[in-house]
Amino acid sequence: MSDTTDDFVEQAKKVLIGNYARLPTVMVRGQGHLLWDKRGKEYIDLFAGFGGTILGHCHPALIKAASDQAQQLWAVGNTFYTEAQVRLAEKIEKSAFPGRAFFCHSGLEANEAATKLGRLRHGGDGKKWKVVSLNKSFHGRSLAMVAATGNPAVKAGFDPQTPGFTQVDLGDMEGLTAAVDDQTATIMMEPIQGEGGIHELPLQYVAEVRKLCDAKGITLHYDEVWTGGGRTGKWYGHQHFLDAFGKVLQPDIMTLGKAVGGGLPVGIMWAKPELAKLLVPGKHGCTLGANPICMAVADAVYETIEKEGLLAHAAKLGDHAIMRLRGEKRLAGVVKDVRGRGLFLGLELTSEPKDLVQRGLDHGVVINLTQKNVVRIAPAINIPTAAWDEGLGRLVETLATLALS
Ligand code: PLP
Repeated sequence: MSDTTDDFVEQAKKVLIGNYARLPTVMVRGQGHLLWDKRGKEYIDLFAGFGGTILGHCHPALIKAASDQAQQLWAVGNTFYTEAQVRLAEKIEKSAFPGRAFFCHSGLEANEAATKLGRLRHGGDGKKWKVVSLNKSFHGRSLAMVAATGNPAVKAGFDPQTPGFTQVDLGDMEGLTAAVDDQTATIMMEPIQGEGGIHELPLQYVAEVRKLCDAKGITLHYDEVWTGGGRTGKWYGHQHFLDAFGKVLQPDIMTLGKAVGGGLPVGIMWAKPELAKLLVPGKHGCTLGANPICMAVADAVYETIEKEGLLAHAAKLGDHAIMRLRGEKRLAGVVKDVRGRGLFLGLELTSEPKDLVQRGLDHGVVINLTQKNVVRIAPAINIPTAAWDEGLGRLVETLATLALS
């Protein structure tokens, strides 16, 4: 390996496909909410690897779960029962609505499984097969999920698009109702759009969508790949949506990814039992899905969040940050909106600074930019309060440089 960062970046470019807009920084070590690069510079990580390292880097409980499992049993395929996946599914059952689990490696795979199940519900014979999703959504990079994603840039270059997918605007109930027809199998939404710039579904809209799905026999699928696993201060983003009696407005299927693996590749489709039972042998599968090491780590993620009271911690830190950032005088004229829930926050900027993430690194903080002008903040939810305050301070310093440029 090359000694210097510049040499290493050159070495990497010779062997890696350039499909990611990588910064010329080489991360070599992480501990909790901290990262260190090859030059020895330390960063507060406020983005947790696109939300994956929900408990930070190298959490002792996750290391123990992975190494205990690694010494006991690796992959045997799904011809057999294995233990950790059942422990994990029982934890999801306890934290969500009654359902059954299918395990895979990624968010997009979980979404594919949900889309297939939406068709199976109606016999899978082509009578009901279409999907309506939202503009500004993101659901993954397979051909079907590109078609489901409401972002022209994600679709570009991949025509003809997979048929059967349409998008409407978030909150436009009339548009949604008009887009649904007798062949619609599934309505698919993120409780809070992540790539789209941190936009939460309005409660009234959620209630009406649920009613529409019930009336038309449509499967309501929440893509909780960003919002599931404690990020928003509840186990799942949809648990913020309550009806007049305080009951959670449940989907029929939710999909999980990112956080639930704690940084390892885990995707989950969680479906109500009456739907789940349709996925009989031969209809779907995944060779390494539910592999014991990933399952043991995911189980430890759930256990640790519960044991360390991290849902309440995330909710408290998020509320505190929204108040602080909204009141921050140095951000006047730079930030026009601060929004989000728990530790999933968006700051909409008045400009489109291409170099913002690099400016953050220069100030010792890892942040992200989406939609050209929305700063996304999604740290590990066990970040200590003092580190969170320090990280927000560095974020403010970074954004304040925009006022000067
Ligand atoms: N769904 C949502 C809401 C996402 O944000 C993403 C990825 O960012 C995906 C699905 C795809 O997940 P993965 O990259 O694990 O396939």
